Amino acid sequence: MIVVLKHGVEAAKREQLIDWLKGQGLTIHISEGEYQTVLGLVGDTTRVDMDLIASLGIVDSVKRVTEPFKCCNRKFHPDDTVIDVNGVKIGGNFVMIAGPCSVESEEQIVAVAKAVKASGANILRGGAFKPRTSPYDFQGLKATGLELLKIARQETGLPIVTEIMGVEHLPLFEDVDIIQVGARNMQNFDLLRELGKLRKPILLKRGLASTLKELLMSAEYIMAGGNEQVILCERGIRTFDDYTRNTLDLAAVPMLKELTHLPIIVDPSHATGIARLVEPMALAATACGADGLIIEVHNDPMHALCDGAQSLRPEVYDDLAQKVRSIREVIAK
Ligand code: PEP
Ligand code: MN
Repeated sequence: MIVVLKHGVEAAKREQLIDWLKGQGLTIHISEGEYQTVLGLVGDTTRVDMDLIASLGIVDSVKRVTEPFKCCNRKFHPDDTVIDVNGVKIGGNFVMIAGPCSVESEEQIVAVAKAVKASGANILRGGAFKPRTSPYDFQGLKATGLELLKIARQETGLPIVTEIMGVEHLPLFEDVDIIQVGARNMQNFDLLRELGKLRKPILLKRGLASTLKELLMSAEYIMAGGNEQVILCERGIRTFDDYTRNTLDLAAVPMLKELTHLPIIVDPSHATGIARLVEPMALAATACGADGLIIEVHNDPMHALCDGAQSLRPEVYDDLAQKVRSIREVIAK
Protein backbone atom coordinates (compact mmCIF):
# COMPACT_ATOMS: atom_id res chain seq x y z
CA MET A 1 0.00 0.00 0.00
CA ILE A 2 1.22 3.53 -0.65
CA VAL A 3 0.18 6.70 1.10
CA VAL A 4 0.90 9.91 -0.80
CA LEU A 5 1.18 12.92 1.51
CA LYS A 6 0.08 16.41 0.58
CA HIS A 7 2.79 18.87 -0.37
CA GLY A 8 4.42 20.65 2.59
CA VAL A 9 2.85 18.71 5.48
CA GLU A 10 4.12 19.46 8.99
CA ALA A 11 6.91 17.11 10.08
CA ALA A 12 5.24 16.39 13.45
CA LYS A 13 1.98 15.29 11.79
CA ARG A 14 3.86 13.13 9.35
CA GLU A 15 5.81 11.42 12.16
CA GLN A 16 2.57 10.86 14.07
CA LEU A 17 1.09 9.05 11.05
CA ILE A 18 4.27 7.02 10.52
CA ASP A 19 4.36 5.96 14.20
CA TRP A 20 0.72 4.95 14.05
CA LEU A 21 1.33 2.83 10.93
CA LYS A 22 4.40 1.23 12.51
CA GLY A 23 2.23 0.44 15.52
CA GLN A 24 0.17 -1.77 13.20
CA GLY A 25 3.25 -3.93 12.57
CA LEU A 26 4.16 -2.35 9.23
CA THR A 27 7.54 -1.29 7.88
CA ILE A 28 7.46 2.15 6.31
CA HIS A 29 9.64 3.21 3.37
CA ILE A 30 9.76 6.96 2.94
CA SER A 31 10.43 8.40 -0.49
CA GLU A 32 10.85 12.15 -0.53
CA GLY A 33 10.52 13.55 -4.00
CA GLU A 34 10.67 17.17 -5.04
CA TYR A 35 6.88 17.51 -5.15
CA GLN A 36 5.53 14.72 -3.01
CA THR A 37 6.35 12.33 -0.20
CA VAL A 38 5.33 8.72 -0.65
CA LEU A 39 5.05 6.30 2.28
CA GLY A 40 5.42 2.70 1.16
CA LEU A 41 3.81 0.26 3.60
CA VAL A 42 5.25 -3.24 3.74
CA GLY A 43 3.70 -6.05 5.74
CA ASP A 44 0.17 -7.28 6.27
CA THR A 45 -1.88 -4.30 5.13
CA THR A 46 -5.14 -6.24 4.87
CA ARG A 47 -6.41 -4.83 8.17
CA VAL A 48 -5.28 -1.26 7.49
CA ASP A 49 -8.29 1.03 7.15
CA MET A 50 -7.65 2.75 3.81
CA ASP A 51 -10.67 5.05 4.11
CA LEU A 52 -9.55 6.27 7.51
CA ILE A 53 -6.06 7.12 6.22
CA ALA A 54 -7.47 8.77 3.09
CA SER A 55 -9.65 10.99 5.26
CA LEU A 56 -6.67 12.48 7.14
CA GLY A 57 -5.97 16.12 6.30
CA ILE A 58 -2.30 15.48 5.46
CA VAL A 59 -3.02 12.61 3.04
CA ASP A 60 -3.42 13.17 -0.68
CA SER A 61 -4.22 9.59 -1.75
CA VAL A 62 -3.95 5.94 -0.70
CA LYS A 63 -3.48 3.04 -3.14
CA ARG A 64 -3.01 -0.69 -2.82
CA VAL A 65 0.10 -2.02 -4.59
CA THR A 66 -1.07 -5.20 -6.23
CA GLU A 67 2.36 -6.33 -7.49
CA PRO A 68 4.19 -8.73 -5.16
CA PHE A 69 7.33 -6.60 -5.33
CA LYS A 70 7.02 -3.61 -3.04
CA CYS A 71 10.33 -1.98 -2.07
CA CYS A 72 11.65 -2.01 -5.63
CA ASN A 73 8.30 -0.91 -7.07
CA ARG A 74 8.29 2.43 -8.87
CA LYS A 75 5.03 3.23 -7.04
CA PHE A 76 6.92 3.16 -3.72
CA HIS A 77 9.66 5.45 -4.99
CA PRO A 78 8.66 7.50 -8.03
CA ASP A 79 12.17 8.95 -8.54
CA ASP A 80 15.03 6.88 -9.93
CA THR A 81 17.32 5.43 -7.29
CA VAL A 82 20.85 6.75 -7.53
CA ILE A 83 23.59 4.58 -6.02
CA ASP A 84 26.85 6.24 -5.10
CA VAL A 85 29.89 3.98 -5.40
CA ASN A 86 32.87 5.97 -4.16
CA GLY A 87 31.67 9.01 -6.06
CA VAL A 88 30.52 7.10 -9.19
CA LYS A 89 26.77 7.54 -9.51
CA ILE A 90 24.78 4.58 -10.84
CA GLY A 91 21.28 5.54 -11.85
CA GLY A 92 22.11 9.23 -12.04
CA ASN A 93 24.87 8.97 -14.59
CA PHE A 94 25.55 6.46 -17.32
CA VAL A 95 28.02 3.94 -15.94
CA MET A 96 30.65 2.07 -17.92
CA ILE A 97 31.80 -1.12 -16.19
CA ALA A 98 34.53 -3.04 -17.95
CA GLY A 99 37.23 -5.61 -17.34
CA PRO A 100 38.08 -9.23 -17.92
CA CYS A 101 35.76 -12.13 -17.29
CA SER A 102 38.32 -13.50 -14.81
CA VAL A 103 41.22 -12.03 -12.95
CA GLU A 104 44.23 -14.02 -14.19
CA SER A 105 47.32 -12.20 -12.92
CA GLU A 106 48.37 -8.84 -11.50
CA GLU A 107 49.83 -7.75 -14.84
CA GLN A 108 46.63 -8.67 -16.68
CA ILE A 109 44.15 -7.01 -14.34
CA VAL A 110 46.23 -3.84 -13.87
CA ALA A 111 46.84 -3.50 -17.62
CA VAL A 112 43.15 -3.97 -18.47
CA ALA A 113 42.09 -1.62 -15.66
CA LYS A 114 44.38 1.14 -16.94
CA ALA A 115 43.23 0.63 -20.52
CA VAL A 116 39.50 0.69 -19.80
CA LYS A 117 39.91 3.70 -17.53
CA ALA A 118 41.65 5.56 -20.36
CA SER A 119 38.63 4.74 -22.54
CA GLY A 120 36.22 6.25 -20.00
CA ALA A 121 35.19 3.23 -17.92
CA ASN A 122 34.39 4.20 -14.35
CA ILE A 123 34.14 0.79 -12.65
CA LEU A 124 36.38 -2.28 -13.03
CA ARG A 125 34.90 -5.78 -13.31
CA GLY A 126 36.76 -9.07 -12.86
CA GLY A 127 35.74 -12.49 -11.64
CA ALA A 128 37.68 -14.14 -8.82
CA PHE A 129 35.13 -16.86 -8.02
CA LYS A 130 33.93 -18.20 -11.37
CA PRO A 131 30.74 -20.21 -11.89
CA ARG A 132 31.79 -22.55 -14.72
CA THR A 133 29.61 -25.12 -16.46
CA SER A 134 32.47 -27.63 -16.38
CA PRO A 135 34.22 -28.49 -13.11
CA TYR A 136 37.41 -29.03 -15.16
CA ASP A 137 37.53 -25.42 -16.39
CA PHE A 138 39.41 -22.58 -14.68
CA GLN A 139 37.47 -21.77 -11.50
CA GLY A 140 39.05 -18.38 -10.78
CA LEU A 141 41.90 -17.24 -8.52
CA LYS A 142 39.43 -16.90 -5.64
CA ALA A 143 40.81 -14.93 -2.63
CA THR A 144 44.02 -14.12 -4.52
CA GLY A 145 41.91 -12.75 -7.37
CA LEU A 146 40.16 -10.39 -4.96
CA GLU A 147 43.54 -9.12 -3.72
CA LEU A 148 44.66 -8.50 -7.31
CA LEU A 149 41.46 -6.55 -8.00
CA LYS A 150 42.23 -4.36 -5.01
CA ILE A 151 45.72 -3.71 -6.41
CA ALA A 152 44.12 -2.67 -9.73
CA ARG A 153 41.74 -0.39 -7.81
CA GLN A 154 44.70 1.15 -5.99
CA GLU A 155 46.54 1.72 -9.28
CA THR A 156 43.60 3.28 -11.12
CA GLY A 157 41.14 4.55 -8.53
CA LEU A 158 38.36 2.53 -10.20
CA PRO A 159 35.84 0.91 -7.82
CA ILE A 160 35.61 -2.87 -8.27
CA VAL A 161 32.72 -5.25 -8.88
CA THR A 162 33.14 -8.99 -8.55
CA GLU A 163 30.92 -12.04 -8.20
CA ILE A 164 30.16 -13.89 -4.98
CA MET A 165 29.20 -17.55 -5.31
CA GLY A 166 28.32 -18.52 -1.77
CA VAL A 167 27.38 -17.08 1.61
CA GLU A 168 30.50 -18.64 3.14
CA HIS A 169 32.69 -16.22 1.13
CA LEU A 170 31.02 -13.07 2.46
CA PRO A 171 33.88 -12.11 4.86
CA LEU A 172 36.24 -11.98 1.87
CA PHE A 173 34.01 -9.41 0.13
CA GLU A 174 34.08 -6.77 2.87
CA ASP A 175 36.37 -4.47 0.91
CA VAL A 176 34.69 -5.03 -2.47
CA ASP A 177 32.78 -1.96 -3.72
CA ILE A 178 29.93 -3.77 -5.52
CA ILE A 179 29.08 -7.44 -4.99
CA GLN A 180 27.80 -9.21 -8.11
CA VAL A 181 25.20 -11.96 -7.91
CA GLY A 182 25.55 -13.99 -11.09
CA ALA A 183 22.73 -15.27 -13.26
CA ARG A 184 23.06 -18.77 -11.80
CA ASN A 185 22.59 -17.45 -8.27
CA MET A 186 19.72 -15.04 -8.90
CA GLN A 187 17.41 -17.27 -6.92
CA ASN A 188 19.85 -18.33 -4.23
CA PHE A 189 17.51 -16.92 -1.62
CA ASP A 190 19.80 -17.61 1.36
CA LEU A 191 22.53 -15.60 -0.35
CA LEU A 192 20.12 -12.78 -1.25
CA ARG A 193 18.89 -12.59 2.34
CA GLU A 194 22.47 -12.31 3.64
CA LEU A 195 23.23 -9.57 1.09
CA GLY A 196 20.13 -7.77 2.36
CA LYS A 197 21.85 -7.38 5.72
CA LEU A 198 24.74 -5.44 4.16
CA ARG A 199 24.73 -1.75 3.29
CA LYS A 200 26.66 -2.20 0.09
CA PRO A 201 25.66 -2.05 -3.61
CA ILE A 202 24.64 -5.37 -5.16
CA LEU A 203 24.70 -6.01 -8.91
CA LEU A 204 21.95 -8.55 -9.50
CA LYS A 205 22.06 -10.36 -12.85
CA ARG A 206 18.95 -11.78 -14.41
CA GLY A 207 18.72 -15.57 -14.25
CA LEU A 208 19.17 -17.62 -17.41
CA ALA A 209 15.45 -18.29 -17.70
CA SER A 210 13.96 -15.81 -15.28
CA THR A 211 11.01 -13.54 -15.87
CA LEU A 212 11.22 -9.87 -15.00
CA LYS A 213 8.90 -10.49 -12.08
CA GLU A 214 11.28 -13.14 -10.74
CA LEU A 215 14.20 -10.74 -11.14
CA LEU A 216 12.31 -8.07 -9.22
CA MET A 217 11.32 -10.55 -6.51
CA SER A 218 15.02 -11.40 -6.08
CA ALA A 219 15.80 -7.69 -5.74
CA GLU A 220 13.00 -7.58 -3.19
CA TYR A 221 14.73 -10.27 -1.09
CA ILE A 222 17.77 -7.99 -0.79
CA MET A 223 15.76 -4.83 -0.20
CA ALA A 224 13.43 -6.41 2.35
CA GLY A 225 16.52 -6.83 4.56
CA GLY A 226 17.12 -3.08 4.39
CA ASN A 227 19.79 -2.97 1.67
CA GLU A 228 18.27 -0.67 -0.92
CA GLN A 229 21.33 -0.46 -3.16
CA VAL A 230 20.43 -2.92 -5.89
CA ILE A 231 21.47 -2.58 -9.53
CA LEU A 232 19.67 -4.84 -12.01
CA CYS A 233 21.43 -6.36 -15.00
CA GLU A 234 19.92 -7.74 -18.19
CA ARG A 235 22.46 -10.26 -19.51
CA GLY A 236 20.45 -12.25 -22.02
CA ILE A 237 18.10 -15.15 -21.47
CA ARG A 238 18.02 -18.70 -22.79
CA THR A 239 15.79 -19.09 -25.85
CA PHE A 240 15.54 -21.55 -28.74
CA ASP A 241 18.09 -19.71 -30.86
CA ASP A 242 21.62 -21.05 -30.79
CA TYR A 243 23.62 -18.67 -32.98
CA THR A 244 24.13 -16.40 -30.00
CA ARG A 245 25.01 -17.54 -26.47
CA ASN A 246 21.76 -16.01 -25.15
CA THR A 247 19.04 -13.69 -26.44
CA LEU A 248 19.43 -10.11 -25.29
CA ASP A 249 16.03 -8.96 -24.05
CA LEU A 250 16.30 -5.23 -24.62
CA ALA A 251 12.59 -4.62 -24.11
CA ALA A 252 13.34 -5.52 -20.50
CA VAL A 253 15.05 -2.15 -20.11
CA PRO A 254 12.09 0.20 -20.74
CA MET A 255 9.75 -2.31 -19.06
CA LEU A 256 11.88 -2.40 -15.90
CA LYS A 257 12.12 1.39 -15.98
CA GLU A 258 8.34 1.47 -15.65
CA LEU A 259 8.13 -1.19 -12.97
CA THR A 260 11.02 -0.21 -10.74
CA HIS A 261 13.10 2.75 -9.60
CA LEU A 262 16.29 0.66 -9.50
CA PRO A 263 19.05 1.28 -12.05
CA ILE A 264 19.25 -1.21 -14.90
CA ILE A 265 22.43 -1.96 -16.80
CA VAL A 266 23.03 -4.25 -19.77
CA ASP A 267 25.70 -6.91 -20.34
CA PRO A 268 26.07 -7.40 -24.11
CA SER A 269 29.06 -9.75 -23.60
CA HIS A 270 27.27 -12.64 -21.91
CA ALA A 271 24.11 -11.86 -23.88
CA THR A 272 25.77 -12.57 -27.23
CA GLY A 273 28.92 -14.57 -26.46
CA ILE A 274 30.50 -13.15 -29.64
CA ALA A 275 32.92 -10.21 -29.52
CA ARG A 276 31.78 -8.66 -32.81
CA LEU A 277 28.16 -8.51 -31.61
CA VAL A 278 29.04 -6.69 -28.40
CA GLU A 279 29.27 -3.23 -29.96
CA PRO A 280 25.94 -3.20 -31.84
CA MET A 281 24.12 -4.53 -28.77
CA ALA A 282 25.92 -2.05 -26.48
CA LEU A 283 24.78 0.81 -28.71
CA ALA A 284 21.21 -0.51 -28.81
CA ALA A 285 21.18 -0.89 -25.02
CA THR A 286 22.38 2.70 -24.65
CA ALA A 287 19.73 3.93 -27.06
CA CYS A 288 16.88 2.15 -25.26
CA GLY A 289 17.62 3.84 -21.95
CA ALA A 290 19.94 1.54 -19.98
CA ASP A 291 21.74 3.20 -17.07
CA GLY A 292 25.02 1.62 -18.06
CA LEU A 293 26.92 -1.25 -19.63
CA ILE A 294 29.07 -4.04 -18.24
CA ILE A 295 31.47 -5.32 -20.88
CA GLU A 296 34.23 -7.93 -20.90
CA VAL A 297 37.61 -6.61 -22.04
CA HIS A 298 40.82 -8.65 -22.17
CA ASN A 299 44.31 -7.66 -23.28
CA ASP A 300 44.80 -11.05 -24.97
CA PRO A 301 41.38 -12.59 -25.70
CA MET A 302 42.88 -15.50 -27.65
CA HIS A 303 44.53 -16.75 -24.46
CA ALA A 304 41.87 -15.71 -21.95
CA LEU A 305 41.15 -18.38 -19.32
CA CYS A 306 37.42 -17.68 -19.59
CA ASP A 307 35.08 -16.12 -22.17
CA GLY A 308 37.77 -15.07 -24.65
CA ALA A 309 35.34 -15.34 -27.58
CA GLN A 310 33.19 -12.54 -26.23
CA SER A 311 35.98 -10.36 -24.86
CA LEU A 312 36.98 -7.14 -26.58
CA ARG A 313 40.56 -6.01 -27.04
CA PRO A 314 41.15 -2.62 -25.30
CA GLU A 315 41.33 -0.71 -28.58
CA VAL A 316 37.99 -2.16 -29.70
CA TYR A 317 36.49 -1.17 -26.35
CA ASP A 318 37.86 2.32 -26.80
CA ASP A 319 36.07 2.64 -30.13
CA LEU A 320 32.85 1.28 -28.62
CA ALA A 321 33.03 3.73 -25.70
CA GLN A 322 33.29 6.67 -28.12
CA LYS A 323 30.24 5.48 -30.04
CA VAL A 324 28.31 5.01 -26.79
CA ARG A 325 29.04 8.64 -25.95
CA SER A 326 27.72 9.69 -29.37
CA ILE A 327 24.49 7.73 -28.86
CA ARG A 328 24.04 9.32 -25.46
CA GLU A 329 24.38 12.77 -26.95
CA VAL A 330 21.70 11.94 -29.52
CA ILE A 331 19.20 10.57 -27.00
CA ALA A 332 19.78 13.46 -24.59
CA LYS A 333 18.47 15.88 -27.27
C1 PEP B 1 30.09 -12.82 -15.34
O1 PEP B 1 29.68 -11.65 -15.31
O2 PEP B 1 31.29 -13.12 -15.37
C2 PEP B 1 29.12 -13.92 -15.38
C3 PEP B 1 29.46 -15.16 -15.06
O3 PEP B 1 27.91 -13.52 -15.80
P1 PEP B 1 26.48 -14.26 -15.73
O4 PEP B 1 26.24 -14.55 -14.30
O5 PEP B 1 25.57 -13.22 -16.31
O6 PEP B 1 26.59 -15.49 -16.58
MN1 MN C 1 32.29 -14.02 -18.43
